Amino acid sequence: MNKVAAALHAANGRRFDNVEAARSYATTLPFAISGTFGGHSSCVELEITPPSAASHEYFLCDLGSGVRPFGSQVIARHGVHAPNTFHVFISHMHWDHIMGFPLFAPSYLPGNELRIYGCHRDLEAAFRRQHGSPSFPVEFDQLGASIKFFTLTPDTTHHIAGVNVTPILQLHAGDSYGYRFEYNDKIVVYSTDSEHKLNAPAATERFVDFLRDADLVIFDAMYSLADAVSVKEDWGHSSNVVGVELCQLAGAKHLVLFHHEPIFDDARIAAVEAESRRFETITRRVYRALEITAAYDGLEMEL
Ligand SMILES: [Zn+2]
Ligand SMILES: [Zn+2]
Repeated sequence: MNKVAAALHAANGRRFDNVEAARSYATTLPFAISGTFGGHSSCVELEITPPSAASHEYFLCDLGSGVRPFGSQVIARHGVHAPNTFHVFISHMHWDHIMGFPLFAPSYLPGNELRIYGCHRDLEAAFRRQHGSPSFPVEFDQLGASIKFFTLTPDTTHHIAGVNVTPILQLHAGDSYGYRFEYNDKIVVYSTDSEHKLNAPAATERFVDFLRDADLVIFDAMYSLADAVSVKEDWGHSSNVVGVELCQLAGAKHLVLFHHEPIFDDARIAAVEAESRRFETITRRVYRALEITAAYDGLEMEL
């Protein structure tokens, strides 16, 4: 309702002769009015090879609810009979990071292979637990795809399907892991559900090294800095301001604010994005300029 009211107000008496004219006006409005950041939980695809209808190999970070539309897209592209391989990197097993898996259609189809990587020893148990009674009508063992689990060692670079992948331990209830992906000369870091203490120089240095020279950093910016250092300290999440500072110290090029606070509406997330950009501009002294984007469902970026 607020968005419709804002759009009508911004139209300021303008007249549209058809829906197409109204639609093209709508594209000129701020994203928080014309679109939505969405509400899916964590799931990110890294398209390593150039997009091609022939590619059957996929890389994913986490299996939050966003994996459901991704699964539908894979089936739309290849049909139900094509064998696909999915390399999946799991930050941790909190429910918002694995909840999409029971609704990931390719896992039901024989011929598909899922290779699920993580640093937690009980990774497979967590996946089995959410399938089957009383949480879900289908048992894990009834899934048609071949599903294998692999335990990775933190601070070690693993060579997986042509990509160098390095996990790092992050501060979060039950531990979580960030991943640094290196392929050709491109570096992407996926780091969510990770708290950073402002008064812990050794931990900061370790993390700055982890983000060093990244082309893209997908970063847990759930809280405002004020919340992160007061009421929500020790809640296991970080802020937009900490994200900007770490990226600046690391010389990263692009920061994506990720894992938005669920109670924030679109206007509030857009405000966090604007504040982050302002903060980056006024603190840009010796650092390279940092691009900042608030993630939304379906956002695509090319490196
Ligand atoms: Zn978590
Ligand atoms: Zn989470």
